[in-house]
Amino acid sequence: ETSNGSSRHKQRPPHFVLVPLMAQGHMIPMVDLARLLADAGSTVTFITTPVNAARIRPVADRIRLSGLPITFVELRFPAAETGLPDGCESVDLITSADLFKPFFEALSLLADPLKLYLSELTPPPDCIIADSMNCWTASVARSLGLPRFIFHGPSCFFIFCSLMLRQHKSLAAVAGDLDPVVLPDLPQRIEMLKVQVVRWMDRPEWEKISQEVRAAEASAQGVVMNTFEELEPWCLERFRKTTGKTVWPIGPLSLYKEEVESKAARGKASSIDTELLLGWLKTKPADSVVLISFGSLSRNSLSQLVEIGRGLEEAAGVPFIWVVKETAAEAASWMEGFEERTKGRGLLIRGWAPQAVILAHPAVGGFMTHCGWNSTLEAVAAGVPMVTWPRFGDQFLNEKLVVEVLQIGVPVGARLPTLFVDEMSQEAQVKGEQVGEAVVRVMAGGMEGEEMRRRARGLGEKARRTMEEGGSSCENLKRMMEVADLQHH
Ligand code: UDP
Repeated sequence: ETSNGSSRHKQRPPHFVLVPLMAQGHMIPMVDLARLLADAGSTVTFITTPVNAARIRPVADRIRLSGLPITFVELRFPAAETGLPDGCESVDLITSADLFKPFFEALSLLADPLKLYLSELTPPPDCIIADSMNCWTASVARSLGLPRFIFHGPSCFFIFCSLMLRQHKSLAAVAGDLDPVVLPDLPQRIEMLKVQVVRWMDRPEWEKISQEVRAAEASAQGVVMNTFEELEPWCLERFRKTTGKTVWPIGPLSLYKEEVESKAARGKASSIDTELLLGWLKTKPADSVVLISFGSLSRNSLSQLVEIGRGLEEAAGVPFIWVVKETAAEAASWMEGFEERTKGRGLLIRGWAPQAVILAHPAVGGFMTHCGWNSTLEAVAAGVPMVTWPRFGDQFLNEKLVVEVLQIGVPVGARLPTLFVDEMSQEAQVKGEQVGEAVVRVMAGGMEGEEMRRRARGLGEKARRTMEEGGSSCENLKRMMEVADLQHH
């Protein structure tokens, strides 16, 4: 009970405060969540900072026009005062691995401004939904007497495996970096190289942040996930049993209907004219085009870029859309030649692509992806099989889910984790032949390819149904809103 009194609350659905992690891939699903909640009658306050607000301006403008009751609030993030480069307000603006820890520590500087803002807000907030990495919101919620749910951006498979690996730390401790580790407590035997699974959770400097994140999850009143019951049921069941938490899978959030219909890019503004793109796609047969894109953070070395291009030339006859974010001048002349050689068959998008729109187009039949969870789930939602090429963090586990559990993808070559350009080897890790071979396996792979496509289609159907009235994600959203309401009264 707050000083605002509860009688007013009962007359309206809860007012949610959404606190996304400052990263492109985390803001995108949270914006969709904001719209789902607002569509269901809630008022939503969405917390950003100036740099992040500027990035999501196109979608914020669309929301303003639609009249949904969502307010975007910009809190000042004092990056420069903490030794971070000025304007370093997003994970994807971190240019060196050394800045990761100071960035995550600096996030808690938003706690006091947020508390102040919320204490004066009308209508008063009823519930905070914060990205699991924003553990600092626990103290804000506590001091204002608000319930708090956490939002997990990654797959339940990743979250559960991380939990299990932490509990069985000895398993990984005995292995060398390149030794396989068997992931415990899964319905089937799944193994990975130690360096792929534990590198990101095993660094001593992460221990404090990671402990705080876990404590904030333990004290939260519920867990919201961008996945759906039918996609990873056994994993959700085990996660619920192990943690005792109430979990609401409410995705795939990319299937939010206005977003699908708008044909707009998610996150930033598109670097390609939509009409041009759709016109090009229209000339291609159903399921014939492969999309190649590696998310908002990953970059390829120049030699790797050339190998990808060679692979696409090798996969003769397969039309493709390749999203290129690397800007290095050294590659420019090679790129020109490549574009010329593959004219008509290939479309290059330099910069930001309307990825979910492309995936949902009937002409698109395959997706070479870094296995970021949003991208993976967007492919699942579109019923499109994948060529998997993870780079860091949860992506290796998402690849396992796609390839071994769901069997809707094939891996490309053997890869080790990289993240920042300064950590990346200049050597291409994957050869053009491997790129071409994996693309052909998915796009024209006979029985194997057809089976994969059939399974991917089936999951796409389930994904669509789950977001409709009566579907599990739709019902979970309602339950989550009820709990927010009850908790606060
Ligand atoms: N995305 C996009 N256009 C691009 C690159 C990415 O729309 O050119 C979107 C993509 O559809 C997804 C998100 O950005 O929704 C990327 O999130 P993901 O979890 O896949 O990867 P991350 O960027 O966090 O590594």
